[in-house]
Amino acid sequence: MLDVLIIGGGPIGMACGIEAKKAKLSYKIIEKGALVNSLYNYPVNMTFFSSSEKLEIGNVPFMSVNNRPTRNESLEYFRRVQQRWDLNIHLFEKVEKVIKKEDETFIIQTSKDTYQAKNIVIATGFYDRPHLLNVPGEDLAKVKHYYDDPHFYINQKVAVIGASNSAIDAALETYRKGADVTLIIREKEVSHRVKYWVRPDIINRIEEGSIKAYYQSEVEKITLRNIIINTPQGKKELENDWVLAMTGYEPDFELLKSVGIHLQDDGLKTPQYDSETQESNVKGIFLAGVICGGLRTNTWFIENSRIHANQIMGTIKGEKLQV
Ligand code: FAD
Repeated sequence: MLDVLIIGGGPIGMACGIEAKKAKLSYKIIEKGALVNSLYNYPVNMTFFSSSEKLEIGNVPFMSVNNRPTRNESLEYFRRVQQRWDLNIHLFEKVEKVIKKEDETFIIQTSKDTYQAKNIVIATGFYDRPHLLNVPGEDLAKVKHYYDDPHFYINQKVAVIGASNSAIDAALETYRKGADVTLIIREKEVSHRVKYWVRPDIINRIEEGSIKAYYQSEVEKITLRNIIINTPQGKKELENDWVLAMTGYEPDFELLKSVGIHLQDDGLKTPQYDSETQESNVKGIFLAGVICGGLRTNTWFIENSRIHANQIMGTIKGEKLQV
């Protein structure tokens, strides 16, 4: 019987493993993909907005060439953390079901095995479930919810849907690698949450006409050759090769609900937990990382949620642990 089983091998699941190890608790991390799977799936040229020391876990120094690290540097870093702490992590194993027994311990069924634990940490992030457009043609192979590498889009007509960081990064990068880019934005302007050093860049590109933008516009339909959008000036049919639907992602609420975690009726499905201990309304089940924000996926990030690991393991151990 484990003291704690951690679901998710992202930065925060790893931080939980480190704190469990430091507190001499028996633990296991179960990760359904590669180590830090979400980061692995970020765009290849992505740069973090945090400076590298703010992403550090387990007292392992994070060196990056520039102040803000790149995705590749972060993968290098988290591999190094794994090696330094020799974390007990099972990769490519998915947690499918958690059952609470009468004695208040848990049975965890995965795609490969069954485990028993006294406590569970859910650190499953939000990057697996894209918000769908729910329009005809969304299932075409040309529609992507994850943007990876700009080279692919040279000489292609690319429609980028969205106005947040991911959409703007994808629009600028593909434009600079030779794509013909159109932004389709539901709001009346580019989000003010776009990184402060990137926002002027996109505004200038739109104003000079290098990137086209339709504001207060929504996609109605996608076909093999076109995209049909509704704009304040009426319906428009644009020639199109690829659609990058950067419309956000949401956590696996089904897993939370299946174990009895209450999702608040606040329009954001914020899961119920105690912010001192990170324990949810289900005794013995703790929440860590970005999942704590429910649909508001920008509330918690690596920088401000790595502390959850210390709070949780201190609670399980029954003492205040050193950070
Ligand atoms: P995740 O990293 O998403 O990890 C969750 C893990 O759980 C995943 O590996 C997933 O595969 C696994 N999992 C899910 N379900 C199961 C299951 N059933 N069984 C087993 N495993 C499962 N944050 C910052 O602090 N600074 C930044 O500069 C920054 N830049 C960002 C840029 C982009 C483009 C994006 C998208 C995010 C950025 N973030 C940044 C946010 C940050 O990456 C996330 O907040 C962070 O990944 C959260 O860590 P986590 O461990 O909570 O979740």
